Amino acid sequence: MKVPFVDLYAQYTTIQTDIDNAIKNVISDTAFIGGKYVWEFEENYAELYGVKHCIGVANGTDAIYIALKMLEVGPGDEVITVANSWISTSETIGQTGATPVFVDIEPDYYTIDVTKIEEKITDRTKAIIPVHLYGHPANMDPILDLCKKYELKIIEDCAQAHFAEYKGKRVGTIGDIATFSFYPGKNLGAYGDAGCIITNDDALAEKCRRFANHGALVKHKHTIEGINSRLDGLQAAILNAKLPHILDWTEARRNVANQYCELLESANHVVLPKEAEYAKHVYHLFVIRSKNRDEIKAFLEENGVGTAIHYPTPLPLLDAYSQYGYKGDNIPIANEYSKMILSIPMYPELGLPDQYFVSEGIRKCC
Ligand SMILES: *Cc1c(COP(=O)(O)O)cnc(C)c1O
Repeated sequence: MKVPFVDLYAQYTTIQTDIDNAIKNVISDTAFIGGKYVWEFEENYAELYGVKHCIGVANGTDAIYIALKMLEVGPGDEVITVANSWISTSETIGQTGATPVFVDIEPDYYTIDVTKIEEKITDRTKAIIPVHLYGHPANMDPILDLCKKYELKIIEDCAQAHFAEYKGKRVGTIGDIATFSFYPGKNLGAYGDAGCIITNDDALAEKCRRFANHGALVKHKHTIEGINSRLDGLQAAILNAKLPHILDWTEARRNVANQYCELLESANHVVLPKEAEYAKHVYHLFVIRSKNRDEIKAFLEENGVGTAIHYPTPLPLLDAYSQYGYKGDNIPIANEYSKMILSIPMYPELGLPDQYFVSEGIRKCC
């Protein structure tokens, strides 16, 4: 038996006609950049989120960069974020000329430890980027309180958390602005790079839209210099075809997670993911933790089960950040967990026999 870590083709086969038609329509309308499919997606996504603005951009990394730039983050500023994330979260801070400041994760939910943020705030701090990592929301209320007290902006990195909820509210609607990735493997995935920004702030939305399109809202009227970061028509049409299914796919992920938790209940050598009382987890990843991580990983792979590690090195310990001098002791939990975490197969179409096979492998190993 083979169980891949993720199977994007399985999803395609369930909506093949819709996707094929969507692609054909974009080609016959030659609506490759901008145009009606992009507008339609922006409108649909904003409506689903109940927000005023959605701006399609080229990818989730650009979305963060654009949000930071338009919040006027730049050289001399500091932006606080979390030690365990994908590098997009911090490299975009560096791209603006600002300095990323890393906070450890809290031990149960792998998101930013809100009790360790205040000690990192200085008079240079401009913003905080909480990451709803693995699909689990960060604990937003204490972050909102700090941002009020110190007049900081919040950019929610929702790249792994489409339709996750914090206290019944969708993440991405809580901070000043939020960014999404539609990288193919994300919970809502395009067939190439894609991303978006959502916000209720009219002025900020307009600035982001202008900056992402060479500094012009109207062709040839460049009021500032910008960048070229646009959602393309093909990706928008594919996302439109997928959008009606996203809530069902999210429930399917949650069902897989529940099933895994039942099947692995007796596996005392692994710690299973938890869902905070305030949270609706959307399980972009199903991450287990074990002292025997490397053994489990090797055993599963020998038996045809794909796994991955998110992430093997905490961001501040990457060579890219050596100039800041972080040591493992500065972020003890993220450091310890980076040697213990393992992501096992998780996607909405993952079948029961596959879930049994993966779980049995984990139980039998060690
Ligand atoms: C995927 C991801 C991004 C970046 O998205 P891209 O579309 O790949 O640029 C940013 N932050 C996190 C946490 C991610 O997982």
